[in-house]
Amino acid sequence: MTTAALIVAAGRGTRAGPGAPKQWRPLAGRRVADWTVAAFAAHPEIDLILAVTHPDDEAEAATLGIETVHGGATRAASVRAGLEALEGRGVTRVLIHDVARAGITPDIISAVITALDTTPGAAPAIPVTDALWRGETGKVTGTEDRTGLFRAQTPQGFHFDAILSAHRAHPGDAADDVEVARAAGLDVAIVPGNETNLKITAPEDFARMEKSLRGAMDIRLGNGFDVHAFEDGDHVTLCGVQIPHTRALKGHSDADVGMHAVTDAIYGALAEGDIGRHFPPSDMQWKGADSAIFLDHAVKLAASRGFTISNIDCTLICERPKIGPHAAAMTTRMAEIMGLAADRISIKATTSEKLGFTGREEGIAALATATLVKA
Ligand code: MG
Repeated sequence: MTTAALIVAAGRGTRAGPGAPKQWRPLAGRRVADWTVAAFAAHPEIDLILAVTHPDDEAEAATLGIETVHGGATRAASVRAGLEALEGRGVTRVLIHDVARAGITPDIISAVITALDTTPGAAPAIPVTDALWRGETGKVTGTEDRTGLFRAQTPQGFHFDAILSAHRAHPGDAADDVEVARAAGLDVAIVPGNETNLKITAPEDFARMEKSLRGAMDIRLGNGFDVHAFEDGDHVTLCGVQIPHTRALKGHSDADVGMHAVTDAIYGALAEGDIGRHFPPSDMQWKGADSAIFLDHAVKLAASRGFTISNIDCTLICERPKIGPHAAAMTTRMAEIMGLAADRISIKATTSEKLGFTGREEGIAALATATLVKA
């Protein structure tokens, strides 16, 4: 079973406004046609992709990265040219797709292919839910019954030999390949389409498609950096874990330099300043405070803005104490405070090769990165 995708990209797209044909215009960082080709290339059940392009678009076609053939004067002629080029190559099923439907989703491709196991033709469509009117000179002149009406989409899939014969026999004035198939007596099953699979037609469709392709996802990165000096003492607190040491860290709170860096990274991603803005050192109630209070506040602030913390990466910079033996306990404690899976929290350490204040063991520095995601 060899399944080919035939992408019809020979149109001039005059309704999309002035400029290059719509399939070669930029859309969310690449050309419309590149999105469409990539969707089929990524699908595991598509074995071969052929695009039908206009003879004037040689340069554009050459950069598609797939085989192309020249189309004809009409859409039907272009499809026919593509089908003829696929003949004799062992193709058993073909999915014919309009290049301007750049938001084609893998589930539609799969549904069409699956349906072809039991029927010679299958195509996606959406039931019409809006009322239908007739209109003339800006006035409603009548209504139409929408029962049983569908908005047709592509890819329209067929058993290869059947659709090739159907196109050869058709006069060539069909609106789409389903019409050609039906004229030849082939049954065509309807599979569910979706609104993402919209056909870019008018200039405003580019903006809508761009939003859909980029997704509504809001991804934020924040960084945090903190330093605390050593003073007399017998332990340090790093990322929520007390570690016996010959010195202590000096600070208004428990001086957990690692947790402070992580907290500031989260505030940074939210453009919410730093710990000092939310917990002023001048306020005596934070004297000796457990830094988990600060981290908890930053995590809840992120959640209240609709963000999920995707991951945290924290580097502690010191010669001593050795961090490695405590890193797992730190990860567990940070995961507990943040309500985050441990495999999304990285805590690592480095020395500064005895250089600078950390090298002279005057204090510990920490830096952190946080990724926040709003779906
Ligand atoms: Mg600090």
